[in-house]
Amino acid sequence: MDDDIQITRLVVGQLSANCYIVGSAASGEGLLIDPGGNAQDIIQAIDSSGFIIRTILLTHGHSDHIAALYETQVHTGASVAIHRLDREFLIGQGPVSSQFGISYRTPAPPDTLLDDGADILLGNNVFNVIHTPGHTPGSICLLGGKRVFTGDTLMRRGIGTTLMPGSSRQQLLNSIRTKLLTLPDDTLVLPGHGRETTIGEERRHNRYLV
Ligand SMILES: [Zn+2]
Ligand SMILES: [Zn+2]
Repeated sequence: MDDDIQITRLVVGQLSANCYIVGSAASGEGLLIDPGGNAQDIIQAIDSSGFIIRTILLTHGHSDHIAALYETQVHTGASVAIHRLDREFLIGQGPVSSQFGISYRTPAPPDTLLDDGADILLGNNVFNVIHTPGHTPGSICLLGGKRVFTGDTLMRRGIGTTLMPGSSRQQLLNSIRTKLLTLPDDTLVLPGHGRETTIGEERRHNRYLV
């Protein structure tokens, strides 16, 4: 890629979610995406990366993507950003919450409520928030250069489940078709679970989309 971005992927928690540390080598600033579990592993990876985490970005509010939010926020002091429609996942919960059988400490309330089109700055790089409702009402993808973090909206040969409260399959498919499949074929897809893929590969081989 033609920029200074370095990406580390950690597979965390019982549901094997992807947590990403995205750093700008030139500025030393970092972005943490979806701290979904194994807080100590994430903290260790952040510290050894040397990046100063400015923002913790949540692709959506499910517990497998936020279960280590409390610990990583306390460690980094970073601001927490989530789409406003998924805000309720981060408020009004008890000291220990459980969803999908995952227990975790109540995360910090969000500092930034995102809307479609919001920019997240990382050094000289701009990442763009794309609102992709369907898996949850406030699911987002994050586009930066020729890479897009897709959370549980689009995965390699898969799409996010729509069996959860607040999910909509029709909305999810519409989000993918109108906001992700419109990206260039060589756009790298970094999903919330599983390994990376590209928009072109999914356009051709994802059976939910063909
Ligand atoms: Zn999810
Ligand atoms: Zn997930």
